[in-house]
Amino acid sequence: MENDPFLSDLHWAADWEHLKNLAAGCTRCSLRAGCTQVVFGCGSIHAHLMVIGEGPGADEDRLGEPFVGAAGKLLDNILHAGGFSRETNVYIANIVKCRPPGNRVPTPAEREACLPILREQFRRLRPKIVLLLGATAAQTILDPTLAISKERGRWQKKGTTLFMPTYHPAALLRNPKWKKDVWEDMKEVVRLYRDLVDEHHLPELEL
Ligand code: URA
Repeated sequence: MENDPFLSDLHWAADWEHLKNLAAGCTRCSLRAGCTQVVFGCGSIHAHLMVIGEGPGADEDRLGEPFVGAAGKLLDNILHAGGFSRETNVYIANIVKCRPPGNRVPTPAEREACLPILREQFRRLRPKIVLLLGATAAQTILDPTLAISKERGRWQKKGTTLFMPTYHPAALLRNPKWKKDVWEDMKEVVRLYRDLVDEHHLPELEL
C-alpha cells in the first residue's frame, strides 16, 4: 500500500463521501475513458447485507447507480421478497465501477485494477452477509474456477463474512427457470440474517 498512493488514499479516506470522490477520479484502467461516470454503489452504509454484481450496464452508466435497468428491477423484487431494499438495509456495489464497452465481461486486469475500491467499501461496511450475483462476482471474490451452477446456494465463509453465490438477475431474465433457485438462495440469506442480525426480520417470502 505504501508504494501505491491511490491505495493509501483509499485507506485513509476520511469518510464514505471522500472514498466516493477518490473512486470518481480513478484512472487505473482504460474503462474510465470509455464510460460516462464511475458507478460507486448505493444503499445503506449501515447495512449488514451487501450485494455485489459484475459492472455497470448502459442504464447504470447513464444514471450513476448500480442495478437500475431491467436486471435491477428484478433484483429489487428479489430483495423486497427477502425484506430488504436499497433504501433501507442493503448496500449494492459492483466488481468494476466503470461500464465495460458493449457490456462485455470485465477482464481479470480490469477487475484487479478496480478491486481496491470494493475492498475498501467492504472493509468499512463490514457486512455479515454478502450476496454474490453471477459468475464474475463469485469467481472474483471466491475462486476463479468456480462454476456458478454448482456453487450457487452454498455458503462460503471468508474471515467472519458469509458469502452466498447465486445467479445474476440478468441470467434470470434469459433463463426464468432459474428463478426458483434464487428464491431458495434468498431464503437462506433471510434465515442467516435472522440468526446473525435481527431475529424479527420479516420477509415476504414463505420460509
Ligand atoms: N449488472 C451488474 O452486474 N451490475 C449492475 O449494476 C447492472 C447490471
